[in-house]
Amino acid sequence: MLKQKILEALKYKREPMEKRISASQLGSSVYEILMRIKYGAIESKEINNATIGSILHKGLECIFKNEPMIDVELDLSYKYKEWNITGTADLYDKETKTIYDYKFIKKTKVNGSKTITGLIDKLKNNDDDEYFWQLCLLRYLANKNGLEVKRLVLFTVSPDAGWDYEKKRYIKFDDEVEIPLNYISDEKIEKRIDSLIKELNLYVDFENNKITLPDNCEAKTKYGFLVDNNGKKIPRKCELYCSYKDVCKLYRNKNLNLEWRF
Ligand code: SF4
Repeated sequence: MLKQKILEALKYKREPMEKRISASQLGSSVYEILMRIKYGAIESKEINNATIGSILHKGLECIFKNEPMIDVELDLSYKYKEWNITGTADLYDKETKTIYDYKFIKKTKVNGSKTITGLIDKLKNNDDDEYFWQLCLLRYLANKNGLEVKRLVLFTVSPDAGWDYEKKRYIKFDDEVEIPLNYISDEKIEKRIDSLIKELNLYVDFENNKITLPDNCEAKTKYGFLVDNNGKKIPRKCELYCSYKDVCKLYRNKNLNLEWRF
């Protein structure tokens, strides 16, 4: 009952066959984006990593609801070559013109997961990361809607922080990583969207409501693997983060030994 209420409160609508690309999909494989176009938003049947993140966002709405200078969950969109490019800024501070994006992120690297130090190293080396793309796309969308943005901040919350017994030191639960405003330029963003649209158009026939899927989903191997207690490798992204795993033909784990889910 309690769980159903939580899941109900976190439901959101995305119809199938929508010409939409969202900020959170910039790091997704074409296959994943096509799954969203084919099925729309699929309801979560269980509380998982994605729902935990959504609960944090719901909390933000409660905390800042009476703050007139803070917009929470600010929906942004822009029509680009017939596609709706969308994104939601977790917080927009109208006074400092700052977009904050909240992320749950590990302090310690597990199976290829992101870490804060990893993100900072990427920034130093001028490397790419989907989080940087997401924030820069939000800045792009805000600007297209006439909103000024002066800062982009990744606000990270780490559930595995606290006392580190091995290193005998305390690790903070929260952190902030500032992303330079034009870390990814408008030109680069439009180039990426152009190439995504070009690729998606190969698979979707909107006029006839038809969609074909490629043979491969890059996300299946890109984010590492979990191993069950029979030694079977489980694609981490599929198992922990993808809401399409129940309908995805590439992910068939019917014989998975799930005792590790204690
Ligand atoms: S379940 Fe895995 S293979 Fe299928 S769309 Fe999701 S990430 Fe890709």
